[in-house]
Amino acid sequence: MDIIRTVFIAFPKGFYTTLKHLFKKPVTRKYPYERREMAPRYRGKHYLEMYEDGTERCVCCGLCAAACPADAIFMEGAENEKGERYARIYEINLLRCIFCGFCEEACPEEAIFLGHEYEFSDDNRDSFIYTKEQMLENRPKEKPFKTIIRRVRRIF
Ligand code: SF4
Ligand code: SF4
Repeated sequence: MDIIRTVFIAFPKGFYTTLKHLFKKPVTRKYPYERREMAPRYRGKHYLEMYEDGTERCVCCGLCAAACPADAIFMEGAENEKGERYARIYEINLLRCIFCGFCEEACPEEAIFLGHEYEFSDDNRDSFIYTKEQMLENRPKEKPFKTIIRRVRRIF
């Protein structure tokens, strides 16, 4: 009886399920060859912005560190030859960070942003101390609409 049920009910049911999905578009991706486009508001690895002339936007005011609920940001300020303040050291501990985006919200200089980079796994804890140089390097090319938004925000 069991064999009859297997052959005439279970097998056709299984084949039907296979056939049903055979011609559908696959939902899986060939990662890492095919990468997923992240949502516009996705919060990944941070980056630091610069002015058009190449000077750093960050003035080491410490507001981002004060807003950080995970105490993940460390910085040390200094002054350049023009007497302008900048961050001599600026580090984010990515193991502590919870990617809440509060640092981005708190920054009055629009210097720090959370990007779309999500591939930064490692087996060495030290590599998760993300330095200023790495953050500057990681910044994407600014899109024209972002420049416009910046200017509008500055007016209001
Ligand atoms: S994203 Fe949140 S937790 Fe991470 S550094 Fe910024 S404020 Fe801190
Ligand atoms: S990133 Fe922004 S909030 Fe943080 S220290 Fe620099 S200027 Fe201040």
